[in-house]
Amino acid sequence: MKSAKLKNKKIEIVDVPKPTLKDFGAIIKVIGCGLCGSDLVKIKHSTPQNEDKIVLGHEVVGIIDEIKSSENKFKKGDVVALSHHYPCMDKKNCQYCNNGSYSMCPTFKKSNIYPNGFSEYIFVNQNHLKYNIYKMNKDLSYDQMAFLEPLSCCVRAIRRAGFSYEDKNNSTHNSLVIGLGSIGLLMLKGLKAFNVNAFGFDISSKRMQNALIHGFCFDEEKKYDVVFLTAGNSKAIDTALNYVIDGGKIIVFSSVENDFAGFKNNEIYYRELSVISSYSPAIADLELSAKLLNEKIVDVKNISTHYTLDNLSQAVNDSFNNDVFKAYIEI
Ligand SMILES: [Zn+2]
Ligand SMILES: [Zn+2]
Repeated sequence: MKSAKLKNKKIEIVDVPKPTLKDFGAIIKVIGCGLCGSDLVKIKHSTPQNEDKIVLGHEVVGIIDEIKSSENKFKKGDVVALSHHYPCMDKKNCQYCNNGSYSMCPTFKKSNIYPNGFSEYIFVNQNHLKYNIYKMNKDLSYDQMAFLEPLSCCVRAIRRAGFSYEDKNNSTHNSLVIGLGSIGLLMLKGLKAFNVNAFGFDISSKRMQNALIHGFCFDEEKKYDVVFLTAGNSKAIDTALNYVIDGGKIIVFSSVENDFAGFKNNEIYYRELSVISSYSPAIADLELSAKLLNEKIVDVKNISTHYTLDNLSQAVNDSFNNDVFKAYIEI
């Protein structure tokens, strides 16, 4: 079968053996996979020494092709979306899971799909079936289903900002998303689903314009209770400090190229700011993400640009050059 492989920072499509089902788990015939900003970061920072260990592609949509499971949650032919990491959930023995820091759990960091999302078939194990895989509503397009994992990351960030999906008072809060790439737009849509007033800012007028088409604007007169940083630019922290209200929160949601900026101790102290980060989703965030997509509470129509697997390296280049908003790879 065809599968993507990284060689000297370049994508190659190679022929590898199709995974087989020896133990509990499932073989999924991949329909498509979103290209994530984190895939780009991995490619950029790959070295000849670590490139064999890098697993690209985790925003997977597929059909269950073979399954061996003790539960009957899924059957052959089910259309599903999935993510790649799961925590151990052993609260007694794992300090991270016990603290709710699921994405810091060693099992979470180690676990993955095999061989990677940019492959014709993948193997997922019993825990993936339990925690990471969701049946998707058939009237969504496949590229919409592929937003399960990225939207769940936003859901976690919104929850870490202190918002609950069930809370009816969220509309008294103003939030600002800095960085309006696809994940920034998704954050805005997630905030709207949580009933939080959502505004967006980007240094690119093209991206501001795009956000406006989706109904989100920027109000420079306002101070914001929560500011989400989704831009991979260390200068964005200054913009965040400028617009966050005293006593407010800054949610760090992306890595930056030059990590030299540091945090402004005195400004954070005297203004009583909270700086929180959010990394990857917990299981509860995946569950809510599936609901938001399946019930069309978050609409992700017409966001993705389609490529074929053979054109994955073109998708990567176009994404690096900001020529495309969100790439979705048809397998
Ligand atoms: Zn992702
Ligand atoms: Zn754990």
